[in-house]
Amino acid sequence: PKYQSTALIIGVTGIVGNSLAEILPLSDTPGGPWKVYGVARRPRPKWNADHPIEYIQCDISDRDETLTKLGGLHDVTHVFYVTWASRSSESENCEINGKMFKNVLDAMIPNSPNLQHLSLQTGHKHYLGPFELYGKVAHDPPFHEDLPRLDVPNFYYTQEDILFESVKQKEGLTWSVHRPGLIFGFSPYSMMNMIGALCVYATICKHEGVPFKFPGTKEAWDQYYVCSDADLIAEQHIWAAVDPNAKNEAFNISNGDVFKWKHFWKVLGEQFEVEDGGFDEGGERVSLVEMMKEKGGVWDEIVREKGLVVTKLEEVAVWWFVDWCFGGECMLDTMNKSKEYGFLGFRNSKSSLIFWIDKMKGYKIVP
Ligand code: NDP
Repeated sequence: PKYQSTALIIGVTGIVGNSLAEILPLSDTPGGPWKVYGVARRPRPKWNADHPIEYIQCDISDRDETLTKLGGLHDVTHVFYVTWASRSSESENCEINGKMFKNVLDAMIPNSPNLQHLSLQTGHKHYLGPFELYGKVAHDPPFHEDLPRLDVPNFYYTQEDILFESVKQKEGLTWSVHRPGLIFGFSPYSMMNMIGALCVYATICKHEGVPFKFPGTKEAWDQYYVCSDADLIAEQHIWAAVDPNAKNEAFNISNGDVFKWKHFWKVLGEQFEVEDGGFDEGGERVSLVEMMKEKGGVWDEIVREKGLVVTKLEEVAVWWFVDWCFGGECMLDTMNKSKEYGFLGFRNSKSSLIFWIDKMKGYKIVP
């Protein structure tokens, strides 16, 4: 056959979905040659269009649409689930995210005779607790995969339970769970994209001739931080899809080093030739949500002036997420289990930062 494996990426324009869409079709990717389907709601954007995949517009929160559009794909061997939905409470998050995931599995499992593996991406909130309980219930870091679940609702637990139940429906069907921390990657459509938002913030500071100030707390500025490169996460998904040792396990995924924002802030400032405002020791904390409230028009002007790809400010820069991340210290994880099971991938986080900034510039999302 022409293809060895067939992937279905749910969330193909997201921060990890876009990396999977780029890496899976490459000729040297393990398990390949891969045929690739990718799903998202919006029409296919230009920056995703180079990847040789079949793009399917489908809203997976709509059960009928999902059963119709995805139930007709009979050749899928691997599902990569890299999406989520955000609601105002965690109980609503559990409901909607459980429903979306189940819609996809109910479309795939009965209709894909060669289905082998389901790969689910969750994250550090498995150990931290949901956004609404931030700082109240977290495990003592460094986080490792064997820690028990926290005794609070968490949509990641809902998704895992659906996963564990679903694999029982088909003999030999395996699963893996991937738990990144803060992701460094590329996607102007992501609901949480730190680098994207910081690039836009630096661009606006430069345009307005004001210093590029760190909009966070002293803990976030000074203390050790970890992050997860989107391509590295994609590599771990693919490793788990292919390597028999990795089946039916959950794995943390982070770059394998630590950094401090006070060091990376300079790097960011240099990339955009903006005056480094650093951290204001005496000042009040500046929230980006507040600071950027009225900047939609400024962004449109920058886009026009610099000939950038047309984007909306609220799409390319999700400020609440940056405010949340910079609200306190970062809790660290450990990559021991992943390494012990045979995944030795890593990234230099500083190189990763520059790589993704270059990608933002290369696709003309920022100047
Ligand atoms: P993104 O927000 O980057 O991407 C979401 C993707 O899913 C987009 O392609 C989006 O496109 C698509 N999508 C959204 N809703 C639907 C829908 N109803 N039907 C079909 N497609 C849909 O996702 P992430 O990679 O950030 O999230 C995956 C997991 O990773 C989540 O559990 C998240 O909590 C976790 N995580 C993320 C981190 C981060 O820094 N981003 C950090 C740690 C964990 P469209 O809107 O056009 O449909």
